[in-house]
Amino acid sequence: MRIGHGYDLHRLEPPPPIGQGKPFVLGGIQIENKTGPVAHSDGDALLHAVTDAILGALGSPDIGQLFPDNDPKNESADSALFLHEAVRRMRAAEWEVGNIDCTVICEQPKIGPHRTKIAANIARLVDCPANLVNVKGKTHEKVDAVGEGRAIEVHVCALLKPRTST
Ligand SMILES: [Zn+2]
Repeated sequence: MRIGHGYDLHRLEPPPPIGQGKPFVLGGIQIENKTGPVAHSDGDALLHAVTDAILGALGSPDIGQLFPDNDPKNESADSALFLHEAVRRMRAAEWEVGNIDCTVICEQPKIGPHRTKIAANIARLVDCPANLVNVKGKTHEKVDAVGEGRAIEVHVCALLKPRTST
């Protein structure tokens, strides 16, 4: 077995012209929200953390090394492409997902109503059964930048096991 941890944080701002926030997207699911991530890519903190957890388990270079944020190619990129590369590497190394557990920390939007849909989409992207992906939402109790709604933070643990399926 291999275990990997992924972490990501993005600043949240209102959309232009007030701020630089992009549309709020989490685990590939667009959610209506007053603020959105400031990012070079689409700013999907959850997909970034899942990508890094899988890459970490593989002992691969991380997402920032594989997809530098100063590369114009990654401008507003769909983060599913980053995750796709991590999954390609995982399969090439003969591993598959054992399970993935995600904690999303933000004040808004509330994650609870969307968690099933988000988990199902991550499972689809990493090509594993939906019950192997878990997504939890928490707040930061109104303290610090995350608690003041100025950032979103995500932690992910991914367990990989030797591939048995084809
Ligand atoms: Zn990110």
